[in-house]
Amino acid sequence: MKKSIFIGIAFSMSSIAFAQKPISPAEFGESISVEDLYKHLSVLASDDYQGRETGQKGQKAAAIYIAKEFERLQLKPAGNDNFFQTFDLVKKTLAAKKLIVNQQVFNFGDDFFCAKNIGNVNFQSNEIVFAGYGIIDKIRNDFKTFNIEGKVVVILAGEPKNKKGLYLLSNSKEKSDWSNKNKKIAAIQKLKPKLILIVDAEYAKFAKSYKHQMETPSMQLEENYTKGPGDLSKEKVMQAFPVITINDNVARALLMPNNKNIDNLRKKYSKRRSIDPFVLKSTITANIDYLEEKTSTENVIGYIPGSEYPEEYVYITAHYDHIGVIDNEVYNGADDDGSGTVGVIEIAEAFALARAQGQGPKRSIVFMTVTGEEKGLLGSQYYTSNPSFEIKNSICDLNIDMIGRVDEAHKNDSNYIYVIGSDKISSDLHEINEKMNSAYTHMNLDYTFNSPSDPNRFYYRSDHYNFAKYNIPIIFYFNGVHDDYHKATDEISKINFPMLSNRTKLVFYTAWEIANRAEPLRKDKTNDFENNR
Ligand SMILES: [Zn+2]
Repeated sequence: MKKSIFIGIAFSMSSIAFAQKPISPAEFGESISVEDLYKHLSVLASDDYQGRETGQKGQKAAAIYIAKEFERLQLKPAGNDNFFQTFDLVKKTLAAKKLIVNQQVFNFGDDFFCAKNIGNVNFQSNEIVFAGYGIIDKIRNDFKTFNIEGKVVVILAGEPKNKKGLYLLSNSKEKSDWSNKNKKIAAIQKLKPKLILIVDAEYAKFAKSYKHQMETPSMQLEENYTKGPGDLSKEKVMQAFPVITINDNVARALLMPNNKNIDNLRKKYSKRRSIDPFVLKSTITANIDYLEEKTSTENVIGYIPGSEYPEEYVYITAHYDHIGVIDNEVYNGADDDGSGTVGVIEIAEAFALARAQGQGPKRSIVFMTVTGEEKGLLGSQYYTSNPSFEIKNSICDLNIDMIGRVDEAHKNDSNYIYVIGSDKISSDLHEINEKMNSAYTHMNLDYTFNSPSDPNRFYYRSDHYNFAKYNIPIIFYFNGVHDDYHKATDEISKINFPMLSNRTKLVFYTAWEIANRAEPLRKDKTNDFENNR
């Protein structure tokens, strides 16, 4: 606090001398420094912050750190509780997890797996049917007229292949769409079974990630949070049909009373002609329960009101949450998205310095670090549905998510940044970003991921997307993924600070131009990402 008062007095006394000089943002952009970025990141990406998991202590400690910085910079608070926009999430944790076949107990993760959105599954049943590959098609129907309503159905994953290695349904090396698990589930669901068990021969390959996926609590926005026009029904989390994926051990236990062997059945059902389902003489008990509890979390929002167009808002965002502690290891998320978070703090400082010299932005600039990104872009979704400022007055969102590292594709040319989405809604935005880069930061702007046909679909995978849904121009600044992505090794020691600093500066200069130019951004483009959705 002391420091900023001192700066305020010093600069206001000399502002007359400065007033004659043409405004050069470089004077302020240069305050974005390796030292400051390091100072903030060494705090936020330290073990003390416990991987900043949404709703947990570490996330809240990080929120307090960021809010103190915003206060020091004399930003105006724009949350519902000072700098915090606090809201509730529904947290689901796996509480009970048992599958018992004829008294044999199977372990969740090691032997079976199910998605979280199947809800609670608790029952005992001895009406169990084995139905081959579970295909329902003109050329092959594994159910025929067999009634499976209310029964447990056991099917094999994938689709049958003949001895030559050709897929039976396509009669070629190409899989048919019956290899898609969801297609099978949708078709079988219509026959109204109680539960579908899928025997996956490759279960062991995925067991570890299944286990982790299920043990991590899931988070959702509350049903009754205010929805905006941009919240499409597609994104609503649907309660799914109960499906459990099992390994061969569970299948063997199920088949034992019938004296059947799983490997033989795979071979047998790999013949073109359909084989009738048969009834298993086993008993199965399923006990899968989720504990639901509310947890509060917060976006951190501060702003500098514009001097000429205070009702127009330029957003600078980054998510400050990460994935927490897994198996006693702290996932510090130095790059994801510690790098973006400290970037936002430094950009706020540069604008605060400018304001202290009488050169505050003409448009309002909102600095927002959001929560819940790792749980499904929840913080930004909540914000754009419950904004502090009218959403239609948003000029753009410059979103930073991972800008401290160098990816494999650029190991011989680290002077780059991926730019995603800049030209999708406003050609002005795209041009300004390029112009500022040519004038100040001189990086290679890589547009690889800006193609709507790029399989990574990064455009949909960070917080800017919740702004783009409202047809607000966005840029997503990104360094690409690397070996430490979502690993405990995403540590500060691996951050390339000169690159982090230069990339942060590009966001600053672009924001500076947008905030100070005479015209707001033209929205002259039809977003081809939106069309490809
Ligand atoms: Zn991220």
